Parts: sequence; structure tokens; C-alpha cells
Amino acid sequence: MSAAKILVVEDEEPLARMLDTSLRQAGYVVTTVGRGVDALKHLIRDEFGVILLDLGLPDADGKEVINQAKAVTRAPVIVISARDSEREKIAALDIGANDYVQKPFDMGELLARIRVALRPPRIRPALESRSDAGLQLDAASRRAIVDGKPVRLSKKEAELLQLLMEARGVIVSHSRIIEVVWGPGSDADAMNLRVLAWQLRRKIEPDAANPRFLIAEAGEGYRLNTD
Ligand code: CA
Repeated sequence: MSAAKILVVEDEEPLARMLDTSLRQAGYVVTTVGRGVDALKHLIRDEFGVILLDLGLPDADGKEVINQAKAVTRAPVIVISARDSEREKIAALDIGANDYVQKPFDMGELLARIRVALRPPRIRPALESRSDAGLQLDAASRRAIVDGKPVRLSKKEAELLQLLMEARGVIVSHSRIIEVVWGPGSDADAMNLRVLAWQLRRKIEPDAANPRFLIAEAGEGYRLNTD
């Protein structure tokens, strides 16, 4: 498999250089630009796996860049914002950003979010079980093992659990979960996701009303508690 390409759109030079270097070290092919107009040129010419986008660019409003990007590519957009604003974040997610990190961010967390964003929309059965603090998933047979007890999962329940396990404790946004579990362009919404999360909890949680594994982060998404 060839390395995924990442487009970094960040005008703050030290941060742009740090991202460029760290992402290359992580094995990605990286293109870094500082202006919205250059981002668009690259998006039209080239195919990227993920776009990392600073919302505060010198020549364009970041939200405008998201709109333009969505018109020419299906690559997921992870917004990097200096603004500590819940409204800003919800607005970015509303117009199609897939995920959001706030400066200053931890590189390990950003890499986890990139792995989640790059994941193919439908799962391929994993050959082996993965384990997470008392919880294991055998994706091929769609069985979870909770404290040693096997539980059968539906296809979507297994896909949700596998996605959250792969994120290793990082929050996965509602829109990203829907895209992975229901497929790109589906009309499933947050309510469908809540129902699915509820079904999964009834199977894997010792006490579904007080979840130990599947944690909802209001307005953001879900994460798997691995403590
Ligand atoms: Ca900036």
C-alpha cells in the first residue's frame, strides 16, 4: 500500500514546519501550503487522503476553504483551530469538516485522528482479536468478548466498536462514525447513531446506564474508555 498523502494548510510557519516534519516521519507524503488559494490548486491537481486545515488563513476564511474543498474532493478535512470556540467548532463540522483539533494539540492525538480519517469507509474483517481493558473484538466473526464472555454483535455494532478501538481512546466525531458505519453519503443521522450506541452498550456494558467502555462526549462524538 502506498503512503497516504496529506495536504497541510497552515500559514503559521513554525507550526507548518513541525507538522510537515512530524507527518513525514510518520510515513505520510506531505504537501504544505500557507494560503487557501494554493490549497485549492493542489486539491484540483492531486488526490489527498486527508486535509489538515487551519481556519485562520491570511487570504481566505477557513470555512470558505472547507466549502471549496468539499466541492472538488472527498478527502476528509481535519480542522486545526486556534479559536477556543464551541460555536466555531460546530460551524466547521456543520459545513463538512470531519474532525477538529484545537491548538496547541498533541501530535500523538493528531496522528490518531489522521488514522481514523484515513480508515476506509467500510471495515475489512480483522484477522485477529484486539483487546482493550476487559473488552475484545473478533471482527471477522463479529463477536465481542466482555470479561471473558462472548457476545454476538450485528454488523454495524461490530463496525462501531472496531472504529472506536482503532481510535485508541480518541473521540471519533458523529459524522465520521456515520460515514464509516453507514457508508459515505448515507442519510443516517445522530439519532440513528444514538440507537446503535445504545444497542451496543446493552451487549458490551456490565451496566448500560453507566457505561464503562462506550463514552458519549456531548456534541462531539464517542470514544472508547480504555482505562
Ligand atoms: Ca493561521
